[in-house]
Amino acid sequence: MQEPKICIRCGNPVRVSRDKYEFYDRMHWLCYHLEFEHSEYDPDEPCEDPNCPWNRIYDIKRMSLWDPIWSLSVYSQDRRSVFRLRIREEYPSGDIDMTAVVEDMGIQKEVDCSVEGSYWRDFIVSFIELQKSGPRRAVLGSISPGMMEMNIEKLSNGQMVLRYTLQEESGLNGKPGFSVSSGFQIDPAGFLLAIKSFLDF
Ligand SMILES: [Zn+2]
Ligand SMILES: [Zn+2]
Repeated sequence: MQEPKICIRCGNPVRVSRDKYEFYDRMHWLCYHLEFEHSEYDPDEPCEDPNCPWNRIYDIKRMSLWDPIWSLSVYSQDRRSVFRLRIREEYPSGDIDMTAVVEDMGIQKEVDCSVEGSYWRDFIVSFIELQKSGPRRAVLGSISPGMMEMNIEKLSNGQMVLRYTLQEESGLNGKPGFSVSSGFQIDPAGFLLAIKSFLDF
């Protein structure tokens, strides 16, 4: 039986990277990463190294932009929040039934709503034009006022912000439904992917 090689950082045996034990200064690769590469970041948040496990997880999440069930996904800069739209039905009038979902700080809220056809088409044009330089905005809202509002704003410094409101018509047993109104800074790279997947849609 092989003699166990013990990680000098966490004290547990190194199995997967056993052959690289010396290379990683007698640590797990992950322990090595946290010790020398993750710098001042908290272990529970991504660092600037693309090999950081957190960044790999978020890359996989980002890939889900290509998931055909979502017509549009806009991720936050820290990639912990996402606002998504899924088109459920498009009527001959051009009106759209859609589901809007926000995942923010681990909380997910979802609303089914309708959007007027002409509003939707204007939104698509201004959404795609967000790629162009200069301050711009793209705004979308549901036919029922306040059920779903989404406002993507590009500032003159190039930063982008998404603000949203989602409101349930009514909750269980006629109780008032939830209402969330918040926003986040958009991840620019993820946003370009969002436009790409939107155009493919
Ligand atoms: Zn370790
Ligand atoms: Zn890291």
